[in-house]
Amino acid sequence: MQASTLDLMQQMGHEQVAFCQDPHTGLNAIIAIHNTVLGPSLGGTRLWNYTSHQDAIVDALRLSRGMTYKSAISGLNLGGGKAVLIGDASKLKNEAYWRRYGRFVNSLNGKYITAEDVNTSKLDMEYIGMETKFVTGKPEYMGGSGDPSPLTAWGVYMGMKASAKKAFGSDSLAGKKVLVQGAGNVGRYLMEQLVKEGAKVYTSDINETKLKEVTDMFPSIEVVASDAIFDLEMDIYAPCALGATVNTESIEKMKCAVIAGGANNQLAEEDVHGPMLVKKGILYAPDFLINAGGIINISIEIDGYNKERAYSTVSKIYDRTLHIFDMAEKDAVHTQLAAMRMAEKRLTDIAKVHTGL
Ligand code: NAD
Repeated sequence: MQASTLDLMQQMGHEQVAFCQDPHTGLNAIIAIHNTVLGPSLGGTRLWNYTSHQDAIVDALRLSRGMTYKSAISGLNLGGGKAVLIGDASKLKNEAYWRRYGRFVNSLNGKYITAEDVNTSKLDMEYIGMETKFVTGKPEYMGGSGDPSPLTAWGVYMGMKASAKKAFGSDSLAGKKVLVQGAGNVGRYLMEQLVKEGAKVYTSDINETKLKEVTDMFPSIEVVASDAIFDLEMDIYAPCALGATVNTESIEKMKCAVIAGGANNQLAEEDVHGPMLVKKGILYAPDFLINAGGIINISIEIDGYNKERAYSTVSKIYDRTLHIFDMAEKDAVHTQLAAMRMAEKRLTDIAKVHTGL
């Protein structure tokens, strides 16, 4: 029997899930609020043609919980939330659709703050912003922080350097062989830093145009076929495309010392693949720890955006990553678990501050 939404909320610890449907605009929206102990929940709006309502609910629940961990470990006073809109982006997106959705966001009175995600753009955020002030990640010309990808990539770069320090004894990436899987927004900005530092960069992407863009920009980058990436001997594997690329099959093939990338949910199953990496001697930089640069950037927009402050705050990912590696060693657990425990401790400590219990 399929678990009900309430069953899933209980299992995953969600506070609230709100649904909205509107026949005039075709809006079918789910806003999942996982945890607001640290502050209002923040997470992007994803528009996707889900095969079932259940798939959409599960995605909203899973993604909003991920945002709680990401903000908690990054020291932000934000909770975890995510919105999932069901349908075909090419048919639905227009001003009325986004403004109707904006009113739905507004009805939650700031318990959920939205931002861009898959299939949502700056213009969409502008329309949402006509109906609610609870929207962030606005374009620079509206006083917002603009595209978060450069900051996400910067955080990944910091996490990668910390990982190199732990694995190789120096945080220099000069001469290191790094494979960046995915030459999209995050991958491209990451490769820019790596090339600047003198790393030997390889990349793969299923989109030829993206590959051409990066190799035109950085001719020293070598392209590897998507189905051959794990045949390559490399120092660092940087997943910057999809989730779940670190799985039983790929770990068996991997010839690298470090995994540090920007993709969300890299481990197919945390409890299985975290320990498997430890056994194989591969150092894993927890994804939600090192790819938090985008959310950190957005959180700075809420207080009044300042780019310099954004970069210096995101740079703290370097020390945080080293700290998590130490914790994992001390407690003899895999690094993802050490990071999750640190996030959970902050949530528990601050909940006690609020309740006094
Ligand atoms: P993007 O869509 O710009 O880039 C992803 C790239 O991966 C695309 O070029 C796509 O063609 C490629 N790709 C898809 N399947 C592939 C495969 N099997 N092999 C190789 N390449 C493949 O997305 P992005 O904004 O760069 O985000 C990349 C990842 O980082 C995503 O998992 C995203 O959730 C995560 N992330 C992004 C941000 C951000 O600020 N953009 C923040 C946190 C996490």
